[in-house]
Amino acid sequence: RLELKNICKEFAGKRVVSDLSLSVAPGQVTCLLGPSGCGKSTTLRIIAGVERQTSGELWVDGKLICGDGIRVPPEGRSIGLMFQDFALFPHLSVAQNVAFGLTGSKSEAHTRVMELLNRVGLDGFEAKYPHELSGGEQQRVALARALAPRPKIMLMDEPFSGLDDRLRDGIRDQTLSVLKEEGTAVLLVTHEPHEAMRMADEIALMRGGRIVQQGNPYNIYNAPVDKEAAAFFSDIN
Ligand code: ATP
Ligand code: MG
Repeated sequence: RLELKNICKEFAGKRVVSDLSLSVAPGQVTCLLGPSGCGKSTTLRIIAGVERQTSGELWVDGKLICGDGIRVPPEGRSIGLMFQDFALFPHLSVAQNVAFGLTGSKSEAHTRVMELLNRVGLDGFEAKYPHELSGGEQQRVALARALAPRPKIMLMDEPFSGLDDRLRDGIRDQTLSVLKEEGTAVLLVTHEPHEAMRMADEIALMRGGRIVQQGNPYNIYNAPVDKEAAAFFSDIN
């Protein structure tokens, strides 16, 4: 379980994340939803450990990983990352890409790679190279790579925005079922209400660095906190 407690972030005295508190349970997808510039990616970078909060605490499974003089480095946080530009290594095969973050014996790594390729529907793709794959296939390899070391937490920043419109919903659904099978706690960032409604168990609606409303998709959609929130959801059909 990932917990954010009163996270604040300032850049040169300007506050971009304000008193943000949030919890993500294993097997659950929590969505940070909000317009451009509201602080979503900054929040993910703080959790990943590539940026440090100005104040507040980060906890993973009851262990403080950042705050109060403690700072666990990114590689010690058991966090997987998937961003819009999912950048597979072009000179490595599909199997080598998925195995990249794995430690342990070769045979264990091989077993894990084959299990994940099967799970994302890419049996038989292990010897191919990224340039031989479609965008959707590359996205699934990136998902397998991020999941390979069994991270407790998966951070996803607009991971579907580079995909063809026709493919996107199918890949969202498939990604979701793989994440649920793995039991990972997922924090998904998006500015698209439709994506949040489709994927999230819990939505945290952000504006100007703050969470303005939090709840399940049904409640957020049916009882928006104010006119701005209602307008934000109004173009979903
Ligand atoms: P988008 O949907 O467009 O990706 P976002 O919600 O992810 O937006 P952030 O990237 O978190 O937004 O940025 C939030 C605010 O913080 C913006 O005003 C941005 O200009 C500012 N910001 C982000 N990183 C820095 C930085 N390193 N230095 C100064 N300001 C920054
Ligand atoms: Mg962003």
